[in-house]
Amino acid sequence: MIDDKKVPLYRIIWISDLPHYCGEPECEREGQYEVRLEGGESVWATKKDHDETVELLESWLQEEEDAE
Ligand SMILES: [Zn+2]
Repeated sequence: MIDDKKVPLYRIIWISDLPHYCGEPECEREGQYEVRLEGGESVWATKKDHDETVELLESWLQEEEDAE
């Protein structure tokens, strides 16, 4: 779950290591982590969601490797 949306792991292309910062005073994404999905879509994760997703992704990739 990222940003209250259920995101399948295989759709994730890239996860930001650093929280978003653009200096905009009105920015709603500050401190959140961008998660790029296939199809040019992005979702925004909190620190907690980011950490959980990275962990899930790593164990998923590990399983893929073990299956080979
Ligand atoms: Zn911003």
